Amino acid sequence: MLRRIDLRQGLGSLNGLLPRAAADVASVIDQVEPLVSDVRRRGAQAVLDATEKFDGVRPATLRVPQQVIDDAVAGLAPEVRAALDEAITRVRVGHRAQIPTERVTQIVPGGIVTQRWVPVGRVGLYVPGGLAVYPSSVVMNVVPAQVAGVRGIAVTSPPQQATGWPDPTVLAACGLLGVTEVYAAGGAQAIAMLGYGTVDTDGTSIRPVDVITGPGNVYVTAAKRLMRGIVSIDAEAGPTEIAVLADEKADPEHVAADLVSQAEHDPMAASVLITTSKALADAVEDAVINRVVRTRHRDRVTAALTGQQSAIVVCANLEDAIKVADAYAAEHLEIQTADAPVVARRIRNAGAIFVGRWSPVSLGDYAAGSNHVLPTAGCARFSSGLATTTFLKQMQVVEYSKEALAAVAPHVLALSAAEDLPAHGEAVSARFPDGVR
Ligand code: NAD
Repeated sequence: MLRRIDLRQGLGSLNGLLPRAAADVASVIDQVEPLVSDVRRRGAQAVLDATEKFDGVRPATLRVPQQVIDDAVAGLAPEVRAALDEAITRVRVGHRAQIPTERVTQIVPGGIVTQRWVPVGRVGLYVPGGLAVYPSSVVMNVVPAQVAGVRGIAVTSPPQQATGWPDPTVLAACGLLGVTEVYAAGGAQAIAMLGYGTVDTDGTSIRPVDVITGPGNVYVTAAKRLMRGIVSIDAEAGPTEIAVLADEKADPEHVAADLVSQAEHDPMAASVLITTSKALADAVEDAVINRVVRTRHRDRVTAALTGQQSAIVVCANLEDAIKVADAYAAEHLEIQTADAPVVARRIRNAGAIFVGRWSPVSLGDYAAGSNHVLPTAGCARFSSGLATTTFLKQMQVVEYSKEALAAVAPHVLALSAAEDLPAHGEAVSARFPDGVR
């Protein structure tokens, strides 16, 4: 079912050998660009037209009425409410620990540079809702923004055909977190709505945001890429990926269960086993086949596992397996080897690492206290998952005394002359009419 990539004879450059999705974000940019431009031009009408086209429903207004959110909270099953409360608590604890402290550094006597962290003013958080619904993504987006101290938080999620509003559990999660500004829009049109702002059909306006975060399908990710520069966006969090780095000691049933678990997100999801053991590879393959026939979302799991983005990679030894894992830069990387914590320390590229048999990815999807909005498609080589710092800006505050400025003034003058920007130097010498020494 999963294609095999046999690298036991050596890795070479690894170029072109790693499994990757066929349809990447770049390939849908041309499709998404007119949609984004249309929202910029026609605002809410364009969002509603696209919603009707892609979601098969036209909500009465883009803004979800507060009563609908309150009803969703009231209608929550007690066990789901308890689970959401627990997830919120854990994610809050995890993200509070990420708040950076203000750092005051005395560069020289009388010369101070302070690094200050300030929350952005307004954020738009995308919560997917196409193939699956993600109340967990509400928690993962909203909690870090709240912990960072963001004042304006808008959430958007695709409307369901049955009600015309986003999924009730998504709305309930917003209600539990005290988010009142919620929109019934998904896909690229929702991203453009957040970035440009619009005037809704009922006359209420959606003010543009400063930052857009959240995972989504390729269209959502392509729209985020187009909005970069107009707003800040988080890392590209597209179709989910799991890589499991495992040796002969790993339990094939656990590995198979974890590979299948992420494949149920999306036909484009990627499940990759990187192993030093051909025997484990064979056992996992058998276990996957057994699970797939029983799993609820069999069609999309099969599509994901048989797609070219998924594979079993067999390596000659652990060193090579670590190199493959680093080159692949998975969104989620499980380490199921002997000395898993030691192996985990050696990994440089992954959105999040799950160490040992008691830390499956689905724990992190919901309630580990970590964040599940993570970079995909190799972006973990250069970017990080959603965190409290995603919603903070760092400002440097410079404060020098007269004596400290006087001491460095000759260097400032020399550099301003070297750059042929004499007015820069004059801004300093003007402060010392008796001359700069
Ligand atoms: P989604 O909300 O991202 O996308 C659904 C929307 O896509 C719809 O509202 C529709 O308007 C729009 N759409 C559909 N076809 C379109 C087209 N041809 N052009 C423009 N827009 C179109 O929900 P989804 O599709 O279920 O995808 C969610 C994705 O998020 C999955 O791939 C899942 O793996 C991923 N995910 C990632 C993470 C992460 O952290 N990386 C976390 C959760 C989910």
